[in-house]
Amino acid sequence: MMFADSHCHLNYKGVFEQQGEVLARARARGVGAMLNISTRESEWDAVVATAEREPDVWASIGIHPHEADQHPDVDIARLVDRTAHPRIVGIGESGLDYYYDHSDRARQQASFRSHIGACRETGLPLIVHTRDAEEDTLAILRDEMKQGAYTGVIHCFTASGAFADAALELGFYISISGIVTFKNARDLQETAARLPIERLLIETDAPFLAPVPHRGKQGEPAFVADTATFLAQLRGEAIEELAARTADNFFTLFNKARA
Ligand SMILES: [Zn+2]
Ligand SMILES: [Zn+2]
Repeated sequence: MMFADSHCHLNYKGVFEQQGEVLARARARGVGAMLNISTRESEWDAVVATAEREPDVWASIGIHPHEADQHPDVDIARLVDRTAHPRIVGIGESGLDYYYDHSDRARQQASFRSHIGACRETGLPLIVHTRDAEEDTLAILRDEMKQGAYTGVIHCFTASGAFADAALELGFYISISGIVTFKNARDLQETAARLPIERLLIETDAPFLAPVPHRGKQGEPAFVADTATFLAQLRGEAIEELAARTADNFFTLFNKARA
C-alpha cells in the first residue's frame, strides 16, 4: 500500500532538524510520495534541496498569503523562472487568508493572481490555501480561468460543501487533512464523504494538524496513513483503494513528478 502526502513542510523548524527520522517513519508506514511546500522565497532553496536529495520528495515554490506583504517583487516571471527545476512540480501555496489577515488583502489577491498566471504559463498545478475567504477565492479562480485554463488543488480543505462543488466544477482537486478526524469537524466529514474519488487527495500539512490519534503532537507525513484510514472508513471504501486512488491522483495532478 502506498500513500501520497500532497502537502507537507519538511523544512519548517522542528521538522528540519529531524528530517531523516521523519522521512524514515513516513516510509515505514508506506508513504511513497511527499510534496514539500514553500511559503516564502527565503525557503525556496532549502525546500528544493530536500527534494533533490530524497527520491520520494518533490517541491513547490510559492508565497503563502501570510507572506504576501513581504514579497511585493515576486511576480509571474520570478515564479516561472524557478519552475524549470525538474523537482519543482507545483506552484504555491498561495491564496487568501482572511482569518489571520497577516497581509493586506489587496496584496494577497495580487500575489494569488501572479501564482495563477505562472501556472497558466508553465502548465504546473496551483496549490491553493483559503481560509475565511471563500467568495473572493472563487471569484479570482473563476475570473482567471476565463483568461486561460489551469489546474490545481484546494489544500487542507475546510470550506463549505458549496465551495467544494464550485472547485470541482472548475476542475480542481480537493485535499483532505487531519482536520477531518477531529470530533467537531462534522460539516467537513459530510463533504469529505461525498467527494468524487477521482478528485481526492490527502495531506498532513505537517508540522501542523496532527490527526487523531496523534493530536497535540507535531504533525509529520507518516500520519497521512491515519487520516487515510479514517477517511476510508467515513467513505465506506477499503483503505487499499483509497490509498491507491489518492496516490494515483497525486501523480495525475502533479504529473511532472512522474517523469
Ligand atoms: Zn495552507
Ligand atoms: Zn501548508
